[in-house]
Amino acid sequence: MLKDKIKSLAQAYKKEVIANRRHLHANPELSFKEFKTAEFVEGKLREIGISEIEKKATTGWSALIKGKNPEKKVVALRADMDALPIIEANDVPYKSQNPGVMHACGHDAHTASLLGAAKILNEVKDQFEGTIKLIFQPGEELVPGGASLMIKDKVLENPRPNAILGQHVMPMIPAGKVGFRPGLYMASTDELYITVTGKGGHGAMPETFIDPVLIASHMIVALQQIVSRVANPKIPSVLSFGRVEALGATNVIPNEVKIQGTFRTLDEAWRAKAHEKMLQIAQGIVEGMGGRLDFEIRKGYPFLKNEPELTARSMEAAREYLGEENVLDLDIWMAAEDFAFFSQEIDGCFYRLGTRNEARGIVSGVHTPTFDIEEDALEIGAGLMAWLAVSELAKG
Ligand SMILES: [Zn+2]
Ligand SMILES: [Zn+2]
Repeated sequence: MLKDKIKSLAQAYKKEVIANRRHLHANPELSFKEFKTAEFVEGKLREIGISEIEKKATTGWSALIKGKNPEKKVVALRADMDALPIIEANDVPYKSQNPGVMHACGHDAHTASLLGAAKILNEVKDQFEGTIKLIFQPGEELVPGGASLMIKDKVLENPRPNAILGQHVMPMIPAGKVGFRPGLYMASTDELYITVTGKGGHGAMPETFIDPVLIASHMIVALQQIVSRVANPKIPSVLSFGRVEALGATNVIPNEVKIQGTFRTLDEAWRAKAHEKMLQIAQGIVEGMGGRLDFEIRKGYPFLKNEPELTARSMEAAREYLGEENVLDLDIWMAAEDFAFFSQEIDGCFYRLGTRNEARGIVSGVHTPTFDIEEDALEIGAGLMAWLAVSELAKG
């Protein structure tokens, strides 16, 4: 049976997948600067014997593995390759050798897993019908998102995939398990940059200045009405301000206050309306109090919806591969992920690979200096991905 063949190959290649992950982990590169990573990936693809490789978006790759009857159906598998500007605090043999840069989101594991899946799929390509498209993308962590650039560079054409699957490590799920969510899963994200300008002065003489600190305070409170009074309560929305900068003193009122925040939701029409409403409320308050407003919204990734039927099929295949008890249902998560650009274009399924191991203290969240993964999970990372791809090809 093909499933057992894939399982035994995943077991046989586990060591290599771990070694690749360690190499990538020790040599992390920031978003859109994944030059050595891309070189490494290309070398491994050629070593596997995959020759149809095409460079995309400067540091990305698309590659094809053709089974029998390659025109029948195309399934894409995606991995991201970039790291984060974080100083690694783990004391491990594969610790980052690039100071200040760290694979703290597990993209090393995604890339190594997809290389492993590619090796497995290439070896069984006479046992499935259709084509697998491998997508190694740059810059997931940085707007405008490598996925959007890969799409601009026609990664979803020639041939156009019928479906795309992506996996992401999750330190909340124990290694050995995976998680899925059909339908709405992750949020759109927009960055907010606001400057409130008033007129500074001596703190003892309020009649002579326009206080941007007080104006900004009212504005921040009022903007929360976007979530509590304007949003449809059935559509999740989050508005958070994480940075407020007013460089005055006990007795000095500054000229301006700078504020940064994030707005997240799960509906594109509401997202656009919320942008308008935020500007309107902020403008009313700031100008009504005599200040001047500069409000910039930098649009990030769209919301991520997992196509329900594709996701149901993938969950079924995952249960066959891992057993019922190892496939979990996930809740909505208000973080963002640029895989959403792909799933806005074609049917997509973005699922989670459990990487937690409490016994070994591997519990830190992504984007933290102590993030790490239980590497045993990489056997599933590579094997399950290969299995999901051939299962989806067979079901088409
Ligand atoms: Zn991340
Ligand atoms: Zn990530």
